[in-house]
Amino acid sequence: MNEDYILIRFGEISTKGKNRKLFVDRLKRNIKMVLRDFRNVRYESTRDRMTLVLNGEDAEAVMARLKNVFGIQSFSLAVKCRTDLESIKETALASVQEQYKPGDTFKVSTKRAYKQFELNTNEVNAEIGGHILRNTDDLTVDVHSPDIHLRIEIREDATYLTFRDEKGAGGLPVGSGGKAMLMISGGIDSPVAGFYAMKRGLEIEAVHFFSPPYTSERAKQKVIDLTKRLTAFGGDIKLHIVPFTKTQELIQKQIPENYSMTATRRLMLQIADKLRERHNALAVFTGESLGQVASQTLESMYAINAVTSTPVLRPLIGMDKTEIIEKAKEIDTYDISIRPYEDCCTIFTPSAPKTRPKKEKIEHFESYTDFEPLINEAVENTETIVLSSKAETKDQFADFF
Ligand code: ATP
Ligand code: MG
Repeated sequence: MNEDYILIRFGEISTKGKNRKLFVDRLKRNIKMVLRDFRNVRYESTRDRMTLVLNGEDAEAVMARLKNVFGIQSFSLAVKCRTDLESIKETALASVQEQYKPGDTFKVSTKRAYKQFELNTNEVNAEIGGHILRNTDDLTVDVHSPDIHLRIEIREDATYLTFRDEKGAGGLPVGSGGKAMLMISGGIDSPVAGFYAMKRGLEIEAVHFFSPPYTSERAKQKVIDLTKRLTAFGGDIKLHIVPFTKTQELIQKQIPENYSMTATRRLMLQIADKLRERHNALAVFTGESLGQVASQTLESMYAINAVTSTPVLRPLIGMDKTEIIEKAKEIDTYDISIRPYEDCCTIFTPSAPKTRPKKEKIEHFESYTDFEPLINEAVENTETIVLSSKAETKDQFADFF
């Protein structure tokens, strides 16, 4: 029996009222985007779900991609048959025979979208269950926790049979909630923050501060690889690489050492905010969590955040490092993040940064220097590359370097 269909059920979006169509359209687009290199897949959709016709494409590979798409509640491999009782009986029995082991239990549940069908749902359950029982050995019914849960969905044009529900990623379709900039560092935290931004339906563009020759090409490559990994959750992502060397050198020269980190963060945020404006985004995301390091005390956040009134969102704020690491492993960014290359902040980090910097003091220290020209220069010289969610090919990488 060929399970040549995948039924995809939409999640939270089914309750979104008037915006529903927008959300659903976006989700359908995102699904097609992550599956675009499976050329034979065909799409059929109705109001509350989508059906993929695999046409010979590898079901496991397609399902692995679907697992990452926000807005999907669950999906299942399905067999399709004609909407008539004989055909349903035959298909159900054949599928069960193919997969059960002696001693297994099963259950049948039926949903009838096509109300004119000759039997009601209870009658279908009884009819199909009885037919399976009569024609198998050592298989019994268990309605509470069956080994095999056969779901039958009767529609006018066709009937679908599924056996196993895969949990989807939940959340909202990427792009349905607008756009934000993600400050991405090459560390463990910021890619996880990006994941959460996307989970709530945001499209992200990543911003990375790069300080050659203090930081190496390999540190940059690490950020490219991390951003590329995040495309699995929502399609192509733009990565803006900001040349930050001159600014950092000027900070070293002009700002007292124990405040240099505060100044660095303030300047990064100002530049990220300019890029945000330029690219029509409405918020900045960071991987900060409260209390982790000197720059992440509440006093520090207050002094850094004072440079802008744009929302700076920190989805990891309440998480412990171990929880963040767990998530990073789950979304496959951890192995890239722990590659040893230094990032620009690590290198310039003073031995004793102020853990309780005062906003008035940093403003005072900064007031002796005009950073504005360097901020503008950094924005102007930012290099933008687009990371694609498509499976990598050599040609594609040739475009980047
Ligand atoms: P991460 O693991 O994300 O680097 P962290 O715990 O090491 O976080 P910091 O290095 O203090 O913390 O960075 C805090 C946040 O500032 C990062 O999560 C990121 O959002 C931003 N950030 C730090 N360095 C950079 C950089 N070079 N480019 C862009 N953003 C950065
Ligand atoms: Mg870091």
